Amino acid sequence: MPDKPKLVKCLVWDLDNTLWQGTLLESAEVTVFPGLRDVIVELDSRGILQSIASKNDYDLAWRRLEEAGLAEYFVHPQIHWGRKSDSVGEIAEQLNFALDTIAFIDDLPSERAEVAFRASEIRCYAAEQAASLPELPEFSPEVVTIDARRRRQMYQASFRRDAERESFAGPDEEFLRSLDLVMTVQRAGEDDLSRVEELTLRTSQMNATGVHYPDAVLRGLLDDQNHEVLTVTLTDRFGPHGAVGVLLLEYHRAVWHLKLLATSCRVVSFGAGAVILNWLIDQAARAGAHLAADFRPTDRNRMMDIAYRFAGFAEEPCTCTAELGSVSGPGPVSVSGSVSGSGSGSRSEQGPDRDGIKCLHLVADPRQAPTTMRLNSPDLAAGRLDRSGSMR
Ligand SMILES: [Zn+2]
Repeated sequence: MPDKPKLVKCLVWDLDNTLWQGTLLESAEVTVFPGLRDVIVELDSRGILQSIASKNDYDLAWRRLEEAGLAEYFVHPQIHWGRKSDSVGEIAEQLNFALDTIAFIDDLPSERAEVAFRASEIRCYAAEQAASLPELPEFSPEVVTIDARRRRQMYQASFRRDAERESFAGPDEEFLRSLDLVMTVQRAGEDDLSRVEELTLRTSQMNATGVHYPDAVLRGLLDDQNHEVLTVTLTDRFGPHGAVGVLLLEYHRAVWHLKLLATSCRVVSFGAGAVILNWLIDQAARAGAHLAADFRPTDRNRMMDIAYRFAGFAEEPCTCTAELGSVSGPGPVSVSGSVSGSGSGSRSEQGPDRDGIKCLHLVADPRQAPTTMRLNSPDLAAGRLDRSGSMR
């Protein structure tokens, strides 16, 4: 049985006689082919981005797309008289997508051949196939998360944000404050877990532990009194960044054990990692607990190493870490280089999977609220103090 084909992340449309019937320069009355609006809306809702490579007059073509109510669905449209292979390549570069995740649809065999000649990884489709694209496996992701459904809006917000950053001359902190950032930390519900899963798979760069917790393991910990599964979302005045972080925390009597902290590389420049750590340290301080954090250095998570050290974590002995030996609940599944699929790895108790994980430690002290963003978060400390008078 052949493997499922690689998912398409961006579909690039030709316009004349592909998206609409006729040639715009010959007749202003071109109409979108029946059914193709539905195709565009459907692919958009699956988190597949769409763009345009058309040899046309930009103003004329864009106005026609606006009239048809379709302009908003396309990112980085390339409407000019240059080569289509250059247009498709430009779109891939702007989005930072590999060419084998790009698809191109055009009615002219010569255009498809020109694109395929320059980059054979790009998948090309004939215009007659347009209406049936949503039925193809390469356009059918198995899971569509909340963030995937609004992926295009998130990209469009980031384009506007980048443009503003480029034109902003003040110091970085001032720029961050001008964004009206709001971070929300909350206890994960059932619905959040697919987003968390996607995040821990995608963010190897900022995954402090290098240990992957599959959906099923995190789901099993949602109602566990001794564990917190927390998600972090971020918005600013340009729109949502979506789910940008996940934490897995286990409470012990004298120490809180941070078993997983991953943040999206999309928000590194906002200092999100430091804000999350400082918040957690402040919570632990108010509950009178120490903090321990798992950390397995990889060649890709150096940024997180720096964030921990900067927050004050160190490899130092403390009597509290004796409590960490008696860890309950399901263990993590180790990730090596490739993380294809999920939940298929064997589950095990802490043991061989914990190889190479260092335990960083910190005596928690009160921290200031962040100056660059507003923070909404649950009061973990109050919950712990309520739960047991025996805590202290
Ligand atoms: Zn300690």
